Amino acid sequence: MKEIVLLGSTGSIGTQVLEVAKLHNIKVKALSAGSNIKLLEEQAREFMPEYVCIADQNKYSDLKNALSDIPVRVLTGKDELSELAALPCNSVVNAIVGMAGFIPTLTAINAGNNVALANKETLVVGGEIITAAAKEKGVQLLPIDSEHSAIFQSLMGSMGNKLRKIILTASGGPFRGFSKEQLRKVTKEQALKHPNWSMGAKITVDSATMMNKGLELIEAVWLFGAAPEQVEIVVHPQSILHSAVEFEDGSVIGQLGMPDMRIPIQLALTYPKRFNSPAKPLSLTDIGSLTFEKPNDDVFPCMNLARTALKKGGNMPCIMNRANEIAVKLFLEDRISFLEITEKIRWAMENVSFSKELTSEVILETEKETEKKMCS
Ligand code: NDP
Repeated sequence: MKEIVLLGSTGSIGTQVLEVAKLHNIKVKALSAGSNIKLLEEQAREFMPEYVCIADQNKYSDLKNALSDIPVRVLTGKDELSELAALPCNSVVNAIVGMAGFIPTLTAINAGNNVALANKETLVVGGEIITAAAKEKGVQLLPIDSEHSAIFQSLMGSMGNKLRKIILTASGGPFRGFSKEQLRKVTKEQALKHPNWSMGAKITVDSATMMNKGLELIEAVWLFGAAPEQVEIVVHPQSILHSAVEFEDGSVIGQLGMPDMRIPIQLALTYPKRFNSPAKPLSLTDIGSLTFEKPNDDVFPCMNLARTALKKGGNMPCIMNRANEIAVKLFLEDRISFLEITEKIRWAMENVSFSKELTSEVILETEKETEKKMCS
């Protein structure tokens, strides 16, 4: 029986991980959440983990009291969250949102744990550190992000043949085809209505600005050792081809399926085995047609900001990422407009101190400085 530690269990990915765990009899050793103690308590009662951790320290005593009748250790705080990541297990599933997921991922790897990674921000802010540590420790980094799972699956039969190109697909989000003028007036409610996927608020807004594809470009470069120029972003509104790779001979191998995160989540938990899934099977005749178009970088400049950050290297992707997290939060609180998200990110990339050297300390310092400069 497999045993996992699940970080971010109360979110969109986290709850689907638990669905898969239940279906395939995977034991859950530990659960964690940011502040949602109600759902965390329900999950603890159902899955009976050895540990639960709540990041928000103000919620700790309420959670501890609520769970006093079951044998579970209740923890709180950043260090304690990382302690969970270091517990011996088959896999640490990181479904935390934002760069709060970076240290737990690194801790899991340093403890010799395989990581099933949904938290793309980990690789955006510290891809170099994470991939080097995974290599040194000989642990697997299995992508949960559907596009990266698709690329990973497309490479499963590659027999060591070199890839020429990665075709990273994007749905285009709710504002595909909009002009800049139309984007001026869009609301939070519109941004939160993704046409194909039901996801947490932050990634849904990232999909609307197309920053999600910028983050995924950086994620792909680190996961698959590709050069940025080898990654082509292609808008595919049906979200059926989840991404593909092209080999030297021009053959393109891709992974198709219904837009259902339980498919990539399950593979990351059961790899290399495939089992039955509750996801609806794909019927190509029902779908009818698959279409592809070039992204519009002028209307959605976030993809270019990500390319610039990647080119500059060092802590620039971290500055961009943290600025995006803060700007998305301000947008969700109705404090800035949709177009101001991009302006804020660009401003931070020009004003936060650049460091070519990248260490975990530099990442944490960059996080603090970005917050201070953007929120003062
Ligand atoms: P959600 O917002 O739905 O869930 C995030 C989880 O992280 C929740 O459990 C939340 O707790 C917890 N959390 C939030 N802040 C902190 C913190 N500071 N410290 C510890 N835990 C925290 O996000 P998603 O599930 O949508 O996304 C999770 C990750 O997966 C993101 O990186 C996203 O980009 C990636 N991803 C998501 C996909 C999706 O379909 N949702 C698809 C591909 C990738 P609480 O509930 O208490 O706030």
